[in-house]
Amino acid sequence: MKINIDFDSYLELEKIGIGAFKPLEGFMNEKDFYSVAESMRLVNGKLFPIPILLPIPKIESEHILKKKKILLIYDNNTVGEIYPESVFSLNFKKFLHLLFGTNDEKHPGYKILNKSGRFFLGGRIKLLKQIKYKNSEYSITPKELKLLIKKKKLRTVAGFQTRNVPHKAHEYILIDALKKVDGLFVQPLIGKKKVGDFLPGCILKSYKYLIDNIFPKNQVLLGTLTTSMRYSGPREAVFHAIIRKNYGCTHFLVGRDHAGVGSYYGEYDAQDLCVKFEKEIGINIIKVRGPFYCEFCKKITNDKNCLRSSQKVEVSGTKIRKALINNKEISEKFMRKEILNLIRKEDIFIK
Ligand SMILES: [Zn+2]
Repeated sequence: MKINIDFDSYLELEKIGIGAFKPLEGFMNEKDFYSVAESMRLVNGKLFPIPILLPIPKIESEHILKKKKILLIYDNNTVGEIYPESVFSLNFKKFLHLLFGTNDEKHPGYKILNKSGRFFLGGRIKLLKQIKYKNSEYSITPKELKLLIKKKKLRTVAGFQTRNVPHKAHEYILIDALKKVDGLFVQPLIGKKKVGDFLPGCILKSYKYLIDNIFPKNQVLLGTLTTSMRYSGPREAVFHAIIRKNYGCTHFLVGRDHAGVGSYYGEYDAQDLCVKFEKEIGINIIKVRGPFYCEFCKKITNDKNCLRSSQKVEVSGTKIRKALINNKEISEKFMRKEILNLIRKEDIFIK
């Protein structure tokens, strides 16, 4: 028996198969989904805060459990196989508050999840084939990254999650982190995101520019994380930390409102939750408090290095985004001209 899967499901299959989602060995069955929603743990007790589900058409759901193995087909490629454990339907509305900490059905993560399907198939998987796709030249497996870290003799590496084109405060955060660790793994998330988020090409080109021209040589590694954004704030920050542990990072940077959207989460809730689990995950959380531009120092700095709070100018991602949309000037205090020139040549945002 065969099932056709869509691109988003292919990406999840790939992440499970390459070990990016360890300890997960397959798409979640019904019991694991309930357990994860309620306690952020799989039935076996292991920490895993985000549901990873395989949507299937209703018509297929009746015959599946009789089969030992089902082939997963994406775009005419047999990309994997699944060993069915459970077929189930979900009403995500019941889980809205648990997963997203809100009852607001307009939450963008909820909207994405709700559109994904009604019927799901859970079971262990085997990845049979990795396909090429847009920007997949930037993909890297945990095994490959671990080898690279070894080759470059980096004893400590901090993972950095991002979905934005870097402004100067991002740069500052990364350079500052290099005082604590030997290396950085910049890993932009380029799976499904909401309308208005940055397109992957802009993010990747900008970081490539910084790595080639600005960052210290041989200390900053770049690779993509191809999975959807969930916008579930603290829960998703823990998920992101687990993934970076799987990639061989010793540290993980968590900033203000990590994986948040709108005003659903407290500014530092994600940091607090990650710190709570840092021992269990086996990764050190580096808590990042927003750097700012100081009119007195005439540079980006932070609370530790400059106490002139009256001269503080916030580097606002939201304002930069608005200026980009309206094709307005952006001061070089906040964003490099070279990066602006790179991204303004093409589409910047998801429409
Ligand atoms: Zn200052």
